[in-house]
Amino acid sequence: MKKTCIFQDTENIEKTKDLLEVAERMYGQGQFQSHAVLLEASSHCLHGSFHHIIRVAEGLVDAYDPRGISDVLENLHQRNRFDSILIPATSLGKMIAPRLAKRLGTGLSAGVTDVKRQKNRIEIIRPACSGKILEVIHHRGAGPVMMSIRPDAFEYRSRGGLQTQILEYTKPVTSRSTVQRLHVEENKLSYDIRESRVLISGGGGVKDDFPELFRLADALNGSVAASRKLVDQGIAPRSIQVGQSGKTVSPSLYMALGVHGTMQHIAGLRNIETIISVNRADNAPICSLSDIVVQGDAAEFIDRLMEKISIYRSEKKES
Ligand SMILES: Cc1cc2nc3c(=O)[nH]c(=O)nc-3n(C[C@H](O)[C@H](O)[C@H](O)COP(=O)(O)OP(=O)(O)OC[C@H]3O[C@@H](n4cnc5c(N)ncnc54)[C@H](O)[C@@H]3O)c2cc1C
Repeated sequence: MKKTCIFQDTENIEKTKDLLEVAERMYGQGQFQSHAVLLEASSHCLHGSFHHIIRVAEGLVDAYDPRGISDVLENLHQRNRFDSILIPATSLGKMIAPRLAKRLGTGLSAGVTDVKRQKNRIEIIRPACSGKILEVIHHRGAGPVMMSIRPDAFEYRSRGGLQTQILEYTKPVTSRSTVQRLHVEENKLSYDIRESRVLISGGGGVKDDFPELFRLADALNGSVAASRKLVDQGIAPRSIQVGQSGKTVSPSLYMALGVHGTMQHIAGLRNIETIISVNRADNAPICSLSDIVVQGDAAEFIDRLMEKISIYRSEKKES
């Protein structure tokens, strides 16, 4: 029987439960023992889905400390000899996975979006070059198969009904944390991009000017959306991401500023009346979908358009 260990990101436990689907694709239903490793949060929603829930004792390690968490996972692997270790590719997961792989002397497939079993080989699939190509990886060597997995790439339909054993991990961690949480800031964006008639959408090309989009959106009575690039970089919240793993939007006007228009982004655009794209490169895929293409710098475009809007408004007032 294979053994898989799944680290649960406390930010979204329901979602990381989906990683069970990865184990099922690798080993087949009922062919593996699942271990969930959990810090601080309630394990209730995992009961019946996992064979073992390993709760890290309170106060042993901070939930945002990748070194301490890697210590815990390394120790657990030494005790249990897992065949695979699966970590969600969240901000925290992306800090833990490479550290742990190095400590265990095994390879890491990072940002995995698909897993297949072909005869006796496991094919691990991940996008590369900003999603333009897909890599197929075969794991070799004696170490555990280690993957970090993109959120929303898999969906697990829990059949439940397992006898879950709850264990407590109490071994003190040896690594000292170099991270200190100073304060927590709430996400203040409460609108739903699916309801906006005008969307000003920002991508990698406006990563340094993202706040400017809100100025333009205000002036046009619209809302701001973003590509996944800005979400992954922590510049925009996930709630405003357009695309395959974000939201599908159908505004009257979609203004894509510094958005390349990969297929995963375009997957979120439906029945849009007018698309305007502003891009330095006129051969970006979004341009071929657009009604109007402006070739140039997006931040400069915003400045110039804001000027025009303010001139138009003052002329309108006067007349
Ligand atoms: C399973 C999976 C799901 C995904 N889901 C999504 C999703 O839901 N949504 C999504 O968006 N992506 C998604 N992606 C990621 C997607 O593949 C791309 O990586 C991402 O969309 C790229 O974002 P971008 O176009 O903003 O950035 P980039 O690829 O960095 O493109 C930036 C663009 O801006 C232009 N540019 C650069 N500087 C300027 C400037 N100063 N002014 C104007 N233009 C400029 C460049 O020419 C380029 O075209 C997914 C990927 C995978 C594998």
